[in-house]
Amino acid sequence: MADFVERLRTIVGDKGLITDDQGKHPYLTDWRENYLGSALAIVRPATTEEVSAVVKLCAAEKVAICPQGGNTGMSGGATPQESGREIVLSLTRMNRILEIDKVGYSMTVEAGVVLKTIQETASEHDRLFPLSLGAEGSCTIGGNLSTNAGGVQVLHYGNARNLVMGIEVVLPNGDIWNGLRALKKDNTGYDLRDLYLGAEGTLGIITKAVLKLWPKPKDVATSWNAVPSPEAAVELLSGAYAASEDNVTSCELMGRQGLELVFKHIPGATDPLADRHEWYVLLEWSSSRAPREGANQSGLREKMEAYLGEAMEKGLVLDAVVAQNESQSRAFWALRENHSESQKKEGPSIKHDISVAVSKLPTFVTEGLLAMKKALPECRPVPFGHVGDGNLHFNCQSPPGWSKKQFMEYGDAISGAIYDLVTSHGGSISAEHGIGRIKVDELTHYRSQVELDTMRTLKRALDPDNLMNPGKVVRV
Ligand SMILES: Cc1cc2nc3c(=O)[nH]c(=O)nc-3n(C[C@H](O)[C@H](O)[C@H](O)COP(=O)(O)OP(=O)(O)OC[C@H]3O[C@@H](n4cnc5c(N)ncnc54)[C@H](O)[C@@H]3O)c2cc1C
Repeated sequence: MADFVERLRTIVGDKGLITDDQGKHPYLTDWRENYLGSALAIVRPATTEEVSAVVKLCAAEKVAICPQGGNTGMSGGATPQESGREIVLSLTRMNRILEIDKVGYSMTVEAGVVLKTIQETASEHDRLFPLSLGAEGSCTIGGNLSTNAGGVQVLHYGNARNLVMGIEVVLPNGDIWNGLRALKKDNTGYDLRDLYLGAEGTLGIITKAVLKLWPKPKDVATSWNAVPSPEAAVELLSGAYAASEDNVTSCELMGRQGLELVFKHIPGATDPLADRHEWYVLLEWSSSRAPREGANQSGLREKMEAYLGEAMEKGLVLDAVVAQNESQSRAFWALRENHSESQKKEGPSIKHDISVAVSKLPTFVTEGLLAMKKALPECRPVPFGHVGDGNLHFNCQSPPGWSKKQFMEYGDAISGAIYDLVTSHGGSISAEHGIGRIKVDELTHYRSQVELDTMRTLKRALDPDNLMNPGKVVRV
């Protein structure tokens, strides 16, 4: 294998190759620290042609490839197996913005560009790229597309699949498919683009993308609301669509337990409200139309205040504060975005990234909390997430002071109860984080034979030697 590694070096150069243990380590473990893999080398190509040459060499030598972007994935998909017979192919050196088409509302980028850089570049050009999530400072667009990421604005703009027009992919045999078409309409045979979006690196490597842009918001209103229940949260959202004139861009639900963890672990985090409540909603409306001067032309903030006043009278909101400036709004968002980090700092947790129809969410929450407590009475449920998409991170924190090993003895009972419940409500066991490695067994259990057979047929046809991220998504 020494010869193989040297041949990689001739393709990507010294700058593109990491072979020492210390240098490799950060690429071999996942954000949640669930897995520690092993790899022959970390390969960091700088161009599509280099990716293609690396993949061709791997195909010839039957060496498997684990593609990796920002390594913020929640499902272990970017961590190689323990065998040590794979390479990690990191796209982080392919980090150039290639083109901005302001008139056509599109941006062409390489796969390793960090999401925040894309957002900022769009904003500098008076445009919006609406994908937004807690890991945006380190996740990459290649990873976002490969996981079909969701985030906090899906209810208005759709998930990653909806935000891209074309992609370039290096196939498992090293061929380059140039599908970089900036077309909103393109019905020319099977949709290959859609096949690679959400495939978690198991069918090929995304190297470039043409992204869609939107007008930049000029009027934004954000509020932090205490609500009596998830039912009230869903009703509040339902009415907000009309009250905001269809400008709801985010609606996030949080329980008190998660918020307590944020106060405990995140310096400077404080409660925006005087009293303690069980449930909270972060609501955001935004519009590309600037608020106009004049007595009868209220902006979104005034409209939101009026709507929340009515909601309070109906008992849907118990207390609320509408952000008066950007820094207050950012402070509200920090309370929401720091949920994952705080859970990590608190200790072991079991995560369930589930979705059900929005109208079924309140019933699911009631039944799910009971199911968790039945499986382990001392556990601490931490439900939070994207209520507007029917997608909650229905997480479970270990009882205080428990070791991971001790807690994981209840893992199957807790997750089994939640996934059975989700399935009985016609929902999904993985709404936005993908299957990766962590849910391969669950996918096999909860999806029909017809779906699994079709997925395996696709995988075998496109990657006959099973070299693209083996052991992830589906077993073949
Ligand atoms: C604090 C926090 C908050 C988060 N919030 C959200 C959220 O709200 N919504 C959400 O959807 N996710 C969320 N995530 C999960 C994660 O950020 C997303 O899944 C993100 O899209 C992963 O991007 P990445 O570049 O880090 O990918 P990685 O973790 O590196 O990879 C993810 C998967 O994609 C594959 N892959 C990566 N790049 C490529 C490529 N170029 N070609 C082919 N395959 C590739 C990998 O093999 C792996 O299977 C959050 C994570 C954290 C840590």
